[in-house]
Amino acid sequence: MTRSLTILGATGSIGRSTADVVLAHRDEFRVEAVVGGRNALALAEVARRLGARFAALADEGGAATLQQALSGTGIESGAGQSAVLEAVEREADIILAAISGTAGLVPTYAALKPGRRIALANKESLVCAGDAFMTDARRLNVEIMPVDSEHNALEHALAAGLNRDVEKAVITASGGPFRTWSRQRISSASAKEASAHPVWSMGSKINIDSATLMNKGLELIEAHHLFGLGAERLDVLVHPEAIVHGLVQWTDGAVTAGLALPDMKVPIANALRGDRRLRMELPRLDLAAIGRLSFERPDDDRFPCLALAKAALRAGGAIPTVLNAANEIAVEAYMAGSIGFYDIPETVERVCSTFSGRQISTPATVAEALAIDREARQTACRLIPAPVEAVQVR
Ligand code: NAD
Ligand code: MG
Repeated sequence: MTRSLTILGATGSIGRSTADVVLAHRDEFRVEAVVGGRNALALAEVARRLGARFAALADEGGAATLQQALSGTGIESGAGQSAVLEAVEREADIILAAISGTAGLVPTYAALKPGRRIALANKESLVCAGDAFMTDARRLNVEIMPVDSEHNALEHALAAGLNRDVEKAVITASGGPFRTWSRQRISSASAKEASAHPVWSMGSKINIDSATLMNKGLELIEAHHLFGLGAERLDVLVHPEAIVHGLVQWTDGAVTAGLALPDMKVPIANALRGDRRLRMELPRLDLAAIGRLSFERPDDDRFPCLALAKAALRAGGAIPTVLNAANEIAVEAYMAGSIGFYDIPETVERVCSTFSGRQISTPATVAEALAIDREARQTACRLIPAPVEAVQVR
């Protein structure tokens, strides 16, 4: 049976890999709508390639360019936030949620419709508003399938036993471009150096998060919401080869792990289909050719963001929402060249400590989460010279 699919973030790194999976399985998927941020021509191109029925661009200014680029194709189009929400409202069995950053929260949350599957790449949605999001997903009987490679591996490893018998679930980190660099050398690293990821080819925000290891911190919080595991049962292991993505250690000492070559098409294919494995014409994992795999503990001294995210997960309440917002502002400022690498954790820590004394309870709705998000962004912008548009993320 063909399933209808809508892709949020279709012009990005995950969006492009998703298009490749869909084009290799035309009999499995029919594309209803594609959503992009600012690049009208790239969106029109992916809409044509996939034979989508509707294309929505978040940037209202690109409306005419998009319409022109799609003229004669029969593909409808729209621009602005209302068009993005229209794309999400249209009938689709599966929504692939791959907008980057907290900007993905409102469309991804609006995608929660009874009986749907959400293939979730946008981890910031869960870090910002995980309790509200997961509560409504359960209430509406929406299946959430993680696209993040570590969580996709954990999803299957966890299926080998019962949640109460999980001693520890571990996600791996490649260690990013600065894994072997000294603290001093890292401190003066440019955004260009931070973007040179050794294993994955990704969007700009997640690239910087991978260099600071905040990505792994956000993923711990994501794992907490997806699998209902507390901070004491979640851990991170550095594994430069990025072959083992997630491991579950059981109460009897056995370990179940998920392995694959590092290609996002593998977890994307799995999250899209859900119930069975698609045939993917990709290189196979040859462990004998690889010979050995290495593992090390993360270094909190050189990568303080990971410890900050762990502390936020333990603190709970509004702190994960605050951490996520402050991080986005700091990453924007770092990419703009206005702050240094270690100003990212410094800013996140200062903003979190401003909020921690206030004992704000966990946001129960997305609106509550967005109000905290906005206030945390404003606090961060008072501490560092951030680009103005970063404050108004939506
Ligand atoms: P990217 O920057 O390459 O792509 C982001 C996409 O979102 C683009 O299509 C962009 O146009 C769109 N977009 C941005 N702002 C928007 C807005 N306001 N409204 C609508 N669309 C908007 O990012 P990416 O690397 O593809 O990552 C996307 C998400 O997936 C992130 O949350 C990231 O953490 C997660 N993720 C990515 C990878 C990876 O390998 N790239 C792996 C795991 C998880
Ligand atoms: Mg990941």
